[in-house]
Amino acid sequence: MSDHVSRTGSSYATPAILEHLASLHAVHDPALDAAFRAADTHTIPAIQLGVHEGALLGWLLRGIRPAKVVEIGTLAGFSGIHIARALRAGGTLFTLEIDPVHAKIARESFRAAEVADRTEVMLGDASASLAILRSRGPFDAVFVDADKAGYDQYLRWALANLAPGGMFIADNVFLFGRLLDDTPEAAAMRRFHSRAAASLDTALIPTPDGLLVGRMPA
Ligand code: SAH
Ligand code: MG
Repeated sequence: MSDHVSRTGSSYATPAILEHLASLHAVHDPALDAAFRAADTHTIPAIQLGVHEGALLGWLLRGIRPAKVVEIGTLAGFSGIHIARALRAGGTLFTLEIDPVHAKIARESFRAAEVADRTEVMLGDASASLAILRSRGPFDAVFVDADKAGYDQYLRWALANLAPGGMFIADNVFLFGRLLDDTPEAAAMRRFHSRAAASLDTALIPTPDGLLVGRMPA
């Protein structure tokens, strides 16, 4: 292989380009925008997906029109609105959130976005909610965006509870740039990546903090 060929490319994205293209490819209605800006109006962190990532999540899911989706990590419901709007008629999003303030804001976001009828916000530690959800599966998609130390455990749950061909999506798979560090958290995230690659048809989308997509064998 010639050594001037970059295997991974380098990004030409600039804030101005991304902003320009958001007005075309990541258009928000008022309810979606309010959920995106929830940290401006409530005392919660601004750690939702970026606008292009949210649009990508919705786009990926519209390709399969899922009936049942599990989201781990609700925050104010920005990603949840994208997911809920991609569901097939009669479908349900189960979204898991440990913080009662976040869960309350998310329920308001879902009402404002008119998707409250197809969303179930489950308050509590995700591992407890996932144990309950076993009996409601199999699921068509799982989106992981919560505590990073839990990713490997959430993936194992997904492998046991996704339907054949089901979609797995995880945000922050670069671990805020710390994936290769010598820490227990980084080692756990690397185990997550190894398991995902061994069990699913995976691809990495190099968003600012990495989005991993995978499909269950059919
Ligand atoms: N997916 C959201 C952002 C989620 S931020 C969006 O893009 O709009 C991560 C969320 O995970 C936070 O709200 C945090 O409270 C929640 N969380 C962290 N640990 C959790 C756990 N163990 N169980 C459930 N939720 C958890
Ligand atoms: Mg995230």
